[in-house]
Amino acid sequence: MTIRRDPPAPPAAPPGNRGRLGLHMTAAAAEGKLALQRCEDCGTAQYPPREVCGQCLSPQLVWKNHKHVAGELLGRTRIHHSNEEYFKRFLPLEVGLVHLEVGPTAVCFLREGCVPGQQVMVSAQLDASGQAVLVATPSAVRTIGRSAALSTSQAAKEKKHAA
Ligand SMILES: [Zn+2]
Repeated sequence: MTIRRDPPAPPAAPPGNRGRLGLHMTAAAAEGKLALQRCEDCGTAQYPPREVCGQCLSPQLVWKNHKHVAGELLGRTRIHHSNEEYFKRFLPLEVGLVHLEVGPTAVCFLREGCVPGQQVMVSAQLDASGQAVLVATPSAVRTIGRSAALSTSQAAKEKKHAA
C-alpha cells in the first residue's frame, strides 16, 4: 500500500532568530519606531546593533528612537533565489543598500519607486515572525530637484493665500 503525502506547507513566517540587541529594535518597531544605537563617547550612530561602538569600542551605547530616518539609496538588487522557504513565495525581492543620514549603511527591503542616488525614508516594521526589518520608501522630496520641489510647495501656499 502506498501512502500519498502532500508536500510540506511552506513556513508561515521568516526565520525569527535574533540576538538580544536585535530584540530591542523589535520592541521599538512594534511601536512604529526605528531604534538605533548611538555612542555617548564619540557620537557615532551604528547599525546593526553591537555590544560596543564600532568606531571607538566604547560600551557606552544608548538607544535613540526615530520615527524614520532619511538616507540615500546607494544601490539596489533583485533577489531571485532564497534558501529560506518563507521567502520563496515572495520572489523576486527588491533590496537595497541605504546610507542613512545619521551615519550607518543598512540593507533594507525596498518599496516600489526607490531609485539609486535618490533619497528614501527608512523605517522599522515587523515581519511575519514579529521581528524588526528595515523598509525603505521613496522620499517625498527627492535629492535631485529638491529646491524646485520646495519652491513649488511654497508657490502653492502663496497662491492659496492670494485666493
Ligand atoms: Zn564611539
